[in-house]
Amino acid sequence: MLVLVINCGSSSVKYQVRDTAATGEENQVIAKGLVENIGSAEIPTHTEALDIMAKALVEPLHGKTIDAIGHRIVQGGDVFSEPVLVTDEVITKIDELSPLAPLHNPAHVLGLKAAQETYPGVPMVAVFDTAFHGTMPEHVYRYAVPEELVEKYGVRRYGFHGTSHDYVTGIAADFLGLDRSDFNGVIAHLGNGASVTAVEGGQCLDTSMGYTPLAGLVMGTRSGDIDPSVLTSIMMRDPEMTPAKMDSLLNKESGLLAIAGNNDMRAVVEAMEAGDERAKLALDMTSYRLAKYIGAYHVAVGGAKALVFTAGIGENSHQFRELAVERLGALGIKLDAEANKVRGDEPRLISTEDSAIPVLVVPTNEEKAIAEATEALVA
Ligand code: AMP
Repeated sequence: MLVLVINCGSSSVKYQVRDTAATGEENQVIAKGLVENIGSAEIPTHTEALDIMAKALVEPLHGKTIDAIGHRIVQGGDVFSEPVLVTDEVITKIDELSPLAPLHNPAHVLGLKAAQETYPGVPMVAVFDTAFHGTMPEHVYRYAVPEELVEKYGVRRYGFHGTSHDYVTGIAADFLGLDRSDFNGVIAHLGNGASVTAVEGGQCLDTSMGYTPLAGLVMGTRSGDIDPSVLTSIMMRDPEMTPAKMDSLLNKESGLLAIAGNNDMRAVVEAMEAGDERAKLALDMTSYRLAKYIGAYHVAVGGAKALVFTAGIGENSHQFRELAVERLGALGIKLDAEANKVRGDEPRLISTEDSAIPVLVVPTNEEKAIAEATEALVA
């Protein structure tokens, strides 16, 4: 099946066409690309962006037609706990969830509608970043705040990166020769945005992102966990500090960027190796925070059977993996220095034989996961 996977942001559309019947990543990916600058004079709306995409696809498709479209949707709230076939009612519900993901869901809705125009009659599936986390029990997803906030604002932990955590969980269980339902583990998805998930019996028990993707780990430009009184205290004292400014400060100007002056992990690691103290502090903070979560989740799942690294930093930065795992000595988790440095596209073991549990690197592939989920629903 030829599946077009679309990830619509407010100013860009990332896409990939995949042939789910082909074997191997090189053969599955028929075309991919990015249309940017939506909102500019040349590309005023998502409709023009998808027209540009459709034109770019003519040649690589060689006259074949798209069988189905899979859309990545960030926020499914507690409405969507699995992928769904897109109907007008589904689009309305995704739109209604916009207050919970103001930067993402409105753009997804524009993308969904534009795709309906560009590819009339082609079945579409919405795959939600939050869905995998729908199995969290109430004592985990609930914040200790009055019921009113839950009812009025949907305040609770949702979690994100679910498509990746789900995909990586399946591959890790396979790699270890375990039935997914027997897999307890900790998955660290470390990209520019980063989250860690406690997996119990193949399902999500807990995850570090919360009501929004701001919670949890120290990220490229996000602070991660912070005492909420910092926000209210500053906003009460500084009349210029509006909620929008505070939101931007914590989401776009914090994290590695605030501490080391750069949000790119490669640059931060290089700076640390050159002796930069700010970079060292930033890496100490990020690796310490991650190690804290791993320790907590190891306990939460009753003993993880594996620790798994994925995404840009998790897959590529042997230095960062080393910094994080060094802090896990109390759990008996040890990296094999040589294996940790191996690079590649395949899932691999990077711990020593006497490590208390295996540590894996599992390359994530959200497009593949979305294409598979789309095929499963359409077929
Ligand atoms: P993602 O959001 O998954 O695309 O990941 C982006 C992050 O991965 C950025 O912080 C990059 O600096 C980081 N990254 C990619 N390649 C490397 C590498 N070789 N070493 C360290 N960090 C890397």
